[in-house]
Amino acid sequence: MTNQVWTVGRILKWTENYFKEKGIESPRLDAEVLLAHVLKQERIYLYVHFDEPMEAEELAAYRECIKKRVMHVPVAHILGEKEFMGLTFKVTADTLVPRPDTEILVQAAVDRLRSLQESGAGAEKLHIADIGTGTGAICLSILHYLEGTMADTVDISPAARAVAEENAEALGLKDRVTFHTGNLLQPLQGMTFAAILSNPPYIPEKDIEALAPEVRLKEPHTALSGGKDGLDFYRRLAKDAPAMLTDGGFMALEVGIHQAEDVAKLAKANPLITETEILPDYAGIDRVVVAWRNRPEKMQAEPAEDTGDNEKAENAGTEED
Ligand code: SAH
Repeated sequence: MTNQVWTVGRILKWTENYFKEKGIESPRLDAEVLLAHVLKQERIYLYVHFDEPMEAEELAAYRECIKKRVMHVPVAHILGEKEFMGLTFKVTADTLVPRPDTEILVQAAVDRLRSLQESGAGAEKLHIADIGTGTGAICLSILHYLEGTMADTVDISPAARAVAEENAEALGLKDRVTFHTGNLLQPLQGMTFAAILSNPPYIPEKDIEALAPEVRLKEPHTALSGGKDGLDFYRRLAKDAPAMLTDGGFMALEVGIHQAEDVAKLAKANPLITETEILPDYAGIDRVVVAWRNRPEKMQAEPAEDTGDNEKAENAGTEED
């Protein structure tokens, strides 16, 4: 970048080419998102200001963003935030960037918790737990969209917990959530919940090196690795979480590709679990396993369905949504 006049249009074109050269996956989009961020404008602004010259300070700030992006720092980390469920979450290098797939888990939980509230099966205030909370994306969205809910969250990373606390404050939800630092369900011993939710680390150890550098190098390893076969956290949750569910409560877990059947099996191996559902994501990949501890009668799958069968339970769940 020399001292010619850099207009919005020119700098975008230059950056797009540079990102392309450096193997960045969506060069134009990233160039625009970062520039809009530097200019504190919406992306659409760029299109009607192509000929506008950039100020020296803006150029310097944009150059910093470009440098980070070609080092494969995720856009969300450069921006310091990510939109999830229509809400803005602060993200840092200590937190997983919330993924659109996780909205499936949130939506499934909100639907079922609402039905529980309507059927009167839950206590006056439904209490939920979010295990491995990261930015707090899961539980804070649920609290935001569902009145009459309270949450406890756990993360093993104190730095992630601090980010989740900031997000709770920013979203005006601080009074409805209690944060814990610790190992899975351990800090919640003796408590019971209408729902226990988790998007735990689930990448099989050997698959981590094949992930995009943005994920492999820049997202926290503790947020990714699910042990040898990726199922370590599900084994522990399936064993211990059902005893912490109130009668009529459920556990909802996000799973990785090809893990849903195995995770449903792990859940069903716990005698307290009476029914499971498997829900697909937008791409048709099985993404969420719901495991019920005595699903309330009004919320049962169709009587004709064999509720012990995953596929049928999945259909019933989809119809209900
Ligand atoms: N719930 C967030 C983050 C998921 S990433 C989201 O969906 O976007 C998984 C999270 O689990 C990370 O924040 C990681 O720090 C946390 N974690 C890893 N091992 C853990 C353990 N043993 N106990 C509690 N949390 C753990």
